[in-house]
Amino acid sequence: MNKEPISEEEIFKELDFYQSQDCKYSDGRILGSMCTQAHPIAQKAFIQFLESNLGDPGLFKGTKAIEDKVLKMIGSFLSIENPVGHIVTGGTEANIMAIRAARNIARDEKGISQGEIIVPQSAHFSFKKASDILNLKLREIVLDDSYQLDASFVEDEINENTVAIVGVAGTTELGMIDPIEELSNIALENNIHLHVDAAFGGFSIPFLKEIGYGLPEFDFSLKGVKSITVDPHKMGLAPIPAGGILFRNEEYLDSISVNSPYLTIKHQSTIVGTRMGATSAATFAVMKYLGKDGYARLAKESLDNAIFLAESVKQLGYELVVEPKLNIVAFNHPKLETDDLAQLIEKRDWKVSCSSCPKAIRVILMNHIKREHIVELISDLKDISESI
Ligand SMILES: *Cc1c(COP(=O)(O)O)cnc(C)c1O
Repeated sequence: MNKEPISEEEIFKELDFYQSQDCKYSDGRILGSMCTQAHPIAQKAFIQFLESNLGDPGLFKGTKAIEDKVLKMIGSFLSIENPVGHIVTGGTEANIMAIRAARNIARDEKGISQGEIIVPQSAHFSFKKASDILNLKLREIVLDDSYQLDASFVEDEINENTVAIVGVAGTTELGMIDPIEELSNIALENNIHLHVDAAFGGFSIPFLKEIGYGLPEFDFSLKGVKSITVDPHKMGLAPIPAGGILFRNEEYLDSISVNSPYLTIKHQSTIVGTRMGATSAATFAVMKYLGKDGYARLAKESLDNAIFLAESVKQLGYELVVEPKLNIVAFNHPKLETDDLAQLIEKRDWKVSCSSCPKAIRVILMNHIKREHIVELISDLKDISESI
């Protein structure tokens, strides 16, 4: 480190140099990210609340009220009037908190000491972290031929040590929606915590349903659902890192609270201690600004873009993995290995990502990918297909 101070001008020259090496969402060439450019109004609120620390909410009562308001607003489209939870550091922290609550309650109420959780093969890898950190055995359920979770397979894996079942509403790789209603019934019959991971789908499915898309139920209207992860920093257009965890009632949060003696509050239940208030303020701003109509419009636009891309790649001779349910399109070329195809697309300056189950090119139609980018992508895919 430098001993003498360096001028602001010099510092920013250097920072700009490094930043110029980053990809930018606004270029429209990042195809494989579930995050996107934060809405301008969210950026503005974020900066205004930079110093607020929700780890010590007694000092930031106003920001705490904002966080509560955000949870209530999210609850209003997830069929719960008074959710209990937090705006946290992304979907991973949210999922770990949910599984921790399930484990602690099962331990205290049923005396389970060697717990297990049941997750679909399509579940996000954050559940591997959760199982490792919380010392729970992970039982993975294989998907059926259409990459869908079969609820009866879940039933077969339940035993006396099961502390939680996880269902996903909008899988990370393919945007599939698990049969949450069936999982809810199974969870209720067996008195097991059902956690729904809607990190990706939580800010789109409810709005698509509202404007007439026939998507399945996945929220607190299903009695077995005890917690839901929903990430403002994905389809909610909030800045990174904004995750959300909502519980059905206070009992769950209590089960993961520890004493926090030197703070202005007595208990803390998040994994991290000092934590941003800025993300809550930013999420508040963008949610108010867009309203349900705004999110419905964005979700529809993204889904329309996905359907447009899916139809186009099919016409070019590519094979879709599944018809898109949400704004993710996964495909392969019948004559190419996925990795080789990925390389050819990368060569044309696109940032691609591949799914693992099955192996495929995976394009997430986030808000930063506009029609003109898709048209350009299709033209490149046409060239690639014609050159082999
Ligand atoms: C993105 C994602 C996560 C993890 O969220 P982070 O914000 O990256 O921690 C968890 N579950 C699903 C379904 C996701 O799509």
